[in-house]
Amino acid sequence: MIKPLLKGLGLTLRTFFTRPVTLQYPEEKMVMYPRFRGLHELTRDKEGKIICVACELCAAVCPANCIRVEPAEGPTHQRFPKVYEIDLLRCIFCGFCQEACPYGAIILRENYETANYTRKDLLYDRDKLFHAYQK
Ligand code: SF4
Ligand code: SF4
Repeated sequence: MIKPLLKGLGLTLRTFFTRPVTLQYPEEKMVMYPRFRGLHELTRDKEGKIICVACELCAAVCPANCIRVEPAEGPTHQRFPKVYEIDLLRCIFCGFCQEACPYGAIILRENYETANYTRKDLLYDRDKLFHAYQK
């Protein structure tokens, strides 16, 4: 009868002196591991221009069908996305879009703080994705 009680107390004592695994969020934030798949970023080249050429491969491969790309052509016939949208409410953060992109133009990065109050705020457009990680 006393044995299970002592066993329980022993366990409590043991964990009492170990480092807590919880964090005081939002004051303390978790450092995500490098391959974590959080909020997407539309990447830029050395000149700071958008890399995406609106080939729509990412949209084609997306299993949640949550990427919308509308291509356009610039003055020197270079393609760019006139519209690039990701519906974060549908995204399952699988990373297929990143894998499919031949230019490394879309990557999933460390930001996991994407909670919001309205559906509209979770529809990330081109500019929001482009500036998502800019300081
Ligand atoms: S992470 Fe997956 S579900 Fe989300 S946009 Fe990319 S391909 Fe679609
Ligand atoms: S992000 Fe990559 S795969 Fe998607 S449209 Fe742009 S260039 Fe194509």
